[in-house]
Amino acid sequence: MWKAKWRTFLKTLQNIEKKIEFENKSGKLYGGIEAGGTKFVCAIGTGPNDLVTESFPTTTPTETLNRAIGFFKKHTYNQQLIAIGIASFGPVDLNASSLTFGYITSTPKQGWTNTDILGTIQIALNVPVALDTDVNGAALGEYRFGNAKNTDNFIYLTIGTGIGGGGMTNGKLIHGLLHPEMGHIRIPHDRKNDPFPGLCPYHRDCFEGLASGPAISRRWGKSAEELPDRHPAWDLEAHYIALALTSYICILSPELIILGGGVMERSTMLPLIRNKVQKLLNNYINKPEITKNIDNYIVTPKLGKYSGVLGAIVLAEEKTKKEAKEKLF
Ligand code: ZN
Repeated sequence: MWKAKWRTFLKTLQNIEKKIEFENKSGKLYGGIEAGGTKFVCAIGTGPNDLVTESFPTTTPTETLNRAIGFFKKHTYNQQLIAIGIASFGPVDLNASSLTFGYITSTPKQGWTNTDILGTIQIALNVPVALDTDVNGAALGEYRFGNAKNTDNFIYLTIGTGIGGGGMTNGKLIHGLLHPEMGHIRIPHDRKNDPFPGLCPYHRDCFEGLASGPAISRRWGKSAEELPDRHPAWDLEAHYIALALTSYICILSPELIILGGGVMERSTMLPLIRNKVQKLLNNYINKPEITKNIDNYIVTPKLGKYSGVLGAIVLAEEKTKKEAKEKLF
């Protein structure tokens, strides 16, 4: 008896998924927002091949969120958005029972502390909204459409204006007490070799304080883009990134590491980092992925600058499926 009921239940779930797929094809679309500290990327679509996007700088919360709302109003004329996903810089409150659920909380970004990003978008556009961190969003985008397909344990790290990391364990995005804050771990800082004190307002010389794009500019007096390939800045930068990666490898045992963000656009960085990770681990993690095939183990994102916003689209799709399933109970 229960088997028959179970079969009916599974069939209903399959039908819901088919219905959602059909609705996508019939013109109902998902919205995605990658809310970055430097810029916002908004998109409507269902995947990499049908995206309509717009990017603009992150200014004040009111101005930036109004611009995002304007984008969706402008581009959904005659079409219905099913849901919107937001992949946001943080920290963000992802605890649904919290009073500040959906808020950007203790961010060092000026003017954005305690911003209700989820509620503002939800109320203005009257659609269900899903929220996760920008890096978990990028990880999800790479998992669905990019370099992490079929990889259930991996991390995605961005090294740019800030440093953040997200990822998956056993095919699920990593959450917990809050969410991973991989940019704020402590790494060894040899002050004789690098007297720069670091610039994180909370910790000074944490990983982000020493190795973000602004840290490079402050330390060397020139922006990262202006520094030539042979400048010592890059070896030090690769050293800090490799130190952080060895910690993540030892703690999370990822099967793949994806490195995105502006700093990683420097093509000479990836080989330097791979080499230093191998040296630091010193064959202790004796797996061919690291000892022999590290070129396929530490990679850049396949979706480039669209990993985050595509992940936000997937967040919207997952929210729709979850809500449809919840209605069954
Ligand atoms: Zn910090």
